[in-house]
Amino acid sequence: MRKFTDRKLLVATHNKGKLDEMRALLAPYGIEVVGAGEMNLPEPAETETTFVGNARIKAHAAAEATGLPALSDDSGIEVDALDGAPGVYTADWAETPNGRDFVQAMTRTWAECEAKSAPPPRTARFRSTLVLAWPDGHDEVFEGKAEGQLVWPMRGQQGHGYDPMFQPEGHEITFAEMDPAKKNEISHRADAFRKLTTCFEV
Ligand code: IMP
Repeated sequence: MRKFTDRKLLVATHNKGKLDEMRALLAPYGIEVVGAGEMNLPEPAETETTFVGNARIKAHAAAEATGLPALSDDSGIEVDALDGAPGVYTADWAETPNGRDFVQAMTRTWAECEAKSAPPPRTARFRSTLVLAWPDGHDEVFEGKAEGQLVWPMRGQQGHGYDPMFQPEGHEITFAEMDPAKKNEISHRADAFRKLTTCFEV
């Protein structure tokens, strides 16, 4: 595995919720973090059908555009009763003509479970695939997951995306009801980050 020896890392996301979490997860390593939005980078189209495929697109586009090593996250929620949907299309389920609407996306997710009369618990997992890409085209891939179940109605004000309807295994509260520092200990992204940090020079 190639070691990450730079002091500056571009985080290839325009999603503020993800950027905040990734900054917090990288904070202990003394690495300067720059967001793709702050560098006015365009958002590449996510045309692949897997998390790793889309994460590669985002990381390589950002590394090539800036000459900096770039870290991307492609993530989503898989619902067992929906045969793994929305999965890689998790963000697409939130798209509206006026931007992303996650209340709409969560409402649809629950409605599709209801339509199938899926028995409780409605098990689901978040997945996060991180790709660290260097400007010379090399990359490393790190995958994480968090198991849990869907709950309805939505609960909590913290977090982002589908957090208000996801109750992680072993907890009675949703990710959106959880202290962000606690979520950052047990989330899919934290799981992938633990693997990523094995390539950091200490
Ligand atoms: P991506 O930008 O294509 O990776 O989109 C991932 C989708 O999954 C977005 O809609 C996110 O809101 C959702 N998602 C990923 N991670 C989380 C999380 O930690 N909590 C809630 N939603 C998440």
